[in-house]
Amino acid sequence: MPTKPGELTFVAPRGAKPPRHLADLSADERREAVAALGEKPFRADQLSRQYFSRLSDRPQEWSDIPAAARERLAGELLPELMSVVRNVSCDGDSTRKTLWKLFDGVLVESVLMRYPDRVTMCISSQAGCGMNCPFCATGQAGLTRNLSTAEIVEQIAAGMRAIKAGEFGGAAEGEEGAVRLSNIVFMGMGEPLANYKRVIAAIRRLTDPAPSGFGLSQRGITVSTVGLVPAMERLAAEELSVRLAVSLHAPDDELRDTLVPVNTRWRVAEVLDAAWNYAERSGRRISIEYALIKDINDQAWRADLLGADVEEPPGACEPDPAEPDAGLQVDGVPARGRAGVRPAAPEPRGAGHRARHPRPGDRGACGQLAAAG
Ligand code: SF4
Repeated sequence: MPTKPGELTFVAPRGAKPPRHLADLSADERREAVAALGEKPFRADQLSRQYFSRLSDRPQEWSDIPAAARERLAGELLPELMSVVRNVSCDGDSTRKTLWKLFDGVLVESVLMRYPDRVTMCISSQAGCGMNCPFCATGQAGLTRNLSTAEIVEQIAAGMRAIKAGEFGGAAEGEEGAVRLSNIVFMGMGEPLANYKRVIAAIRRLTDPAPSGFGLSQRGITVSTVGLVPAMERLAAEELSVRLAVSLHAPDDELRDTLVPVNTRWRVAEVLDAAWNYAERSGRRISIEYALIKDINDQAWRADLLGADVEEPPGACEPDPAEPDAGLQVDGVPARGRAGVRPAAPEPRGAGHRARHPRPGDRGACGQLAAAG
């Protein structure tokens, strides 16, 4: 539901829960669930291998599981969570945006992006968002609900299946030039750290070795936040090696209170302290995301302030000019200045700071996918 300017929603409205799915469960919970269905616990590993390693959600392909058990296991533990409303491809088929309809009719989006050396997927963690950033179409629609762990994981599973089948413009698995999904960014709809438990569980499923999970590298995962400081501290204590991206968008509290309303709860200095703490604990560099908005946050003095804010972090940082949502009344025009606030350049410039050209769907900060039916 749309909110008033500046209003924050941290707790998602209550509603019907998505059906339980294998990807919601830890390895132990899967064994218990399978045993409760009257099957031997080792069937949980077989089912997990089908889903996470072979990317198969079709019972007819599960030749290692007795035919009599397949449909029941599939019905109970691999219910259909989402269906494709439409796929839109652009950039010569190297970018594919998918609009999904979830079990309750809610719409979310994900984006696959193929680069010469990798494939990245941008996924949603919430339907809508409660952070209400005025330049973001997702934020304007308010928070509908949190996605379940499995709804997050299934976006990735679907992307992997499309890549494996060669549907995403590249070679299919086993063919020369076949590509694999290597990078995941939590920069779709929603504030991932506001759906903390399910996002962390999803990261475990993505990175746990087979058959518990997909076995992806934690280093290929980026979690974007607008600065929920307690959750950033909690994330630091998880001892993960995922990358943290902080959507700063303004270096001073006065402007950031307006551009990123959660700043009224946690100030710029607190957010940066939490980011540097994460860098120290995780050993990973931090990305500082800054959507340049003409005549709003692109002044030289703000560039200087941003440069001063990020000049001496223990983990270094990468301020990335990013585009605001194209549908809103702002222009993503590069500003002058120093540090990260410089005109977008095709190659990184300078140690620890880089600028980039975003693709459609490859926005530099969270939540710039707004689902529309
Ligand atoms: S920019 Fe990110 S945090 Fe802000 S409203 Fe949009 S999705 Fe939410």
